[in-house]
Amino acid sequence: MTEEDVSGADERREFLAGRLAAVRDRIAAACSAAGRPLDAVRLLAVTKTFPASDVALLGDLGLTEFGENRDQDAAPKAAEVAELRPGLRPRWHMVGQVQRNKARSVARWADVVESVDSPRLVEALTRAVAAARESGRRESRLDVLVQVSLDGAPGRGGCPPKEVAQIAEMVDHSGELRLIGVMAVAPLGGDSERSFETLNTVSDLLRRDHPDAVEISAGMSNDLERAIAAGSTSVRVGTALLGTRPIA
Ligand SMILES: *Cc1c(COP(=O)(O)O)cnc(C)c1O
Repeated sequence: MTEEDVSGADERREFLAGRLAAVRDRIAAACSAAGRPLDAVRLLAVTKTFPASDVALLGDLGLTEFGENRDQDAAPKAAEVAELRPGLRPRWHMVGQVQRNKARSVARWADVVESVDSPRLVEALTRAVAAARESGRRESRLDVLVQVSLDGAPGRGGCPPKEVAQIAEMVDHSGELRLIGVMAVAPLGGDSERSFETLNTVSDLLRRDHPDAVEISAGMSNDLERAIAAGSTSVRVGTALLGTRPIA
């Protein structure tokens, strides 16, 4: 590594440290405004499009949960982070739509899939996790969240609220997956406050039959305060932490 690389890394570390402090302040302020304890909301760093070196630096700064939305990027990145920081125990979340033919790969690197939205995906992930465990490529079950669509618009993932119970039931019976909660992305141009309230209601109903499914993954860089006010337990933050993503 040249001296230039080292000072570039120092600059990036300082940038990320500043952004992280600001995001943590926003989360803390939103928690106290909502009368919720500070540890009620976790921070998931959405590192999609950013390099493994950024994940390593965020790990040095104390983060352990990272989100990715494309299997083809995340699989090599997770391997690279394991080499860069063998002592870090990252918890990788898949937050993007999972194509069923990618389920086998996802089952090897993901600790959590947040975007489960159909019975067929439950089936594909169940088979994939079973295969990964049989071949010794994973030990534990896969934690999953049911992604809920709050505007009924297809294309951005998520199932209608009325399908959540059936998908949750299938997850429970899979033997390979563990239901931990619900996830949503606020509809574009919609009333995000109402959407997050709807998600909270969906979560309440789900927990009647699945008391352990306590996670509510909601809120991103632009709307994390509104999500925390409505009960989010995990905010997924990319831009506010890492900067503007390069356009794909
Ligand atoms: C990219 C992404 C995020 C992070 O979005 P920002 O606006 O950059 O904070 C959160 N959730 C999902 C599902 C994403 O794809």
